[in-house]
Amino acid sequence: MAAVELRGVTKRYDSRTTVIHGIDLDIQHGEFVVFVGPSGCGKSTLLRMIAGLEPITGGEVRIDGQRVNDLPPRHRDIAMVFQDYALYPHKTLYENMAFGMRLRKTPEADIQRRVQNAAQLLRIDHMLERRPAALSGGQRQRVAIGRAIVREPKVFLFDEPLSNLDAQLRNEMRSEIKRLHQRLGATIIYVTHDQVEAMTLADRIAVLSAGRRMQYDTPDAVYNRPAAVFVAGFTGAPPMNLCACTLADGQADLGGLRVPLPAGLAERARDAPALTFGVRPENVRLAPAAPGDVALPAQVLLLEPLGAETLVTFRMGQAEVVARCPAAFRERPGQAVTVHLSPPELHLFDRTSGAAL
Ligand code: ADP
Repeated sequence: MAAVELRGVTKRYDSRTTVIHGIDLDIQHGEFVVFVGPSGCGKSTLLRMIAGLEPITGGEVRIDGQRVNDLPPRHRDIAMVFQDYALYPHKTLYENMAFGMRLRKTPEADIQRRVQNAAQLLRIDHMLERRPAALSGGQRQRVAIGRAIVREPKVFLFDEPLSNLDAQLRNEMRSEIKRLHQRLGATIIYVTHDQVEAMTLADRIAVLSAGRRMQYDTPDAVYNRPAAVFVAGFTGAPPMNLCACTLADGQADLGGLRVPLPAGLAERARDAPALTFGVRPENVRLAPAAPGDVALPAQVLLLEPLGAETLVTFRMGQAEVVARCPAAFRERPGQAVTVHLSPPELHLFDRTSGAAL
């Protein structure tokens, strides 16, 4: 039995506004699942339906096998961490964390033990008498997480918890949340629009677009075997190169430039009326990496040095393709170079449906 099961979960605001279209998901005990997708795709709505903060129009949400559609949030045994922390400004950190347990009449000794344990885990045990105003954003977020931990819930729900932090703190808190998950072994559902957070934190990622589940799989599978062109274009920084192509003699034609395809892929693409070609920037190489790699002519268009590496935009046929190149790349815009692609690393998508072939 999964910790959380969604069956055909739908959200409609009125007859014309459906924002979640029948989503199915199984989240196992102890699993860290991230809902990721662009702003407005329905991540928060889905999370809030699991929490009970938003009525469910259709389908079923189960927590530990129990249907919870009609249970109020406080009876679902979940704890939610919000982007804006939602701390009580006049209470000390200790009281902020203890408050929920006080309401539930938890014995004082238990409250003390749980708050101390959570505070130690989050390294805020030396500031429990302070009030939220005396804390940095990162420390406030720790208190909000601590308040969730002391509840010992069945499931933790995080709604964009790092969005209000600056870039450096965000990275720190991200590692911290990952460590916390490793230590607690808790079931976590985490919402973010940031694909890096999704890739680094998740056991499994649910990629959402316009209220639909585009893929639900491990970060490795989502990155290396994207099920849809949307997923390919949403993951990676920079994301996968995508361009229109046609099929000619089992090869992808990028407008005057033909790229050999693996036999299986060419076969699957044969009946698609229109195609999108895809290759990840790190798979566009200046030197061959494997025996079957193909050499293709390209022209340098743009260099973007990042320090450790340089992003180089090449023209290949009619397409523009970004490659991650060594920082030592010295060719100038306008120069002709040879780039290498590895057929097993190429992707094709049906341009009409967006599905991977
Ligand atoms: P995300 O968290 O992915 O940014 P949301 O879950 O907040 O997306 O919103 C999903 C969609 O639902 C958006 O298109 C939003 O405009 C719509 N939406 C949210 N609340 C309402 C509402 N009360 N009435 C109608 N549409 C809404």
